[in-house]
Amino acid sequence: MTVTPAQLRAFASRAEALTAEIRELCGSAPAEPAERAHLQAALHAADWLARGAEDLQHAAEDLARLRSQPLCGFGWGVCPEHGNTLSSRAGVATCRVCRRTWNYDRLGQPCREPVTWKVTDPAGTETRMCDGHVLGARAAMGGATFIRLDAGAFDEQM
Ligand SMILES: [Zn+2]
Ligand SMILES: [Zn+2]
Repeated sequence: MTVTPAQLRAFASRAEALTAEIRELCGSAPAEPAERAHLQAALHAADWLARGAEDLQHAAEDLARLRSQPLCGFGWGVCPEHGNTLSSRAGVATCRVCRRTWNYDRLGQPCREPVTWKVTDPAGTETRMCDGHVLGARAAMGGATFIRLDAGAFDEQM
């Protein structure tokens, strides 16, 4: 089953509605002193729900962005933040810098990160790649132009 951004957005709005209901009910009731702490706890829980609604909303946006972008497709995986820093052992890939792990041989599989950069080498050849792969390209491709695709396409100085 595929989860859609719309489904996540629906969860987010249900969490928002629930938050509002709890706040209205528990925040306005004139409580006995003995009950007050419990209503405070309920209001505190509503704060967590509000936070959860935001996270769900972000997850929906990120998922929608991912679905709308082509994938990098380089022949090997990278750490999205650190680039060519993965070691693979016994089917588990680990970034040597941040220690993040993936429970599959990420290093040995084609990259499935979204394309975020367009790189043009001095000969004019364009390659599209993800955040992680652009790090290695920066080190290897002197004189290339790096354009970030989702930030209005600006040229960045090397
Ligand atoms: Zn890393
Ligand atoms: Zn990549």
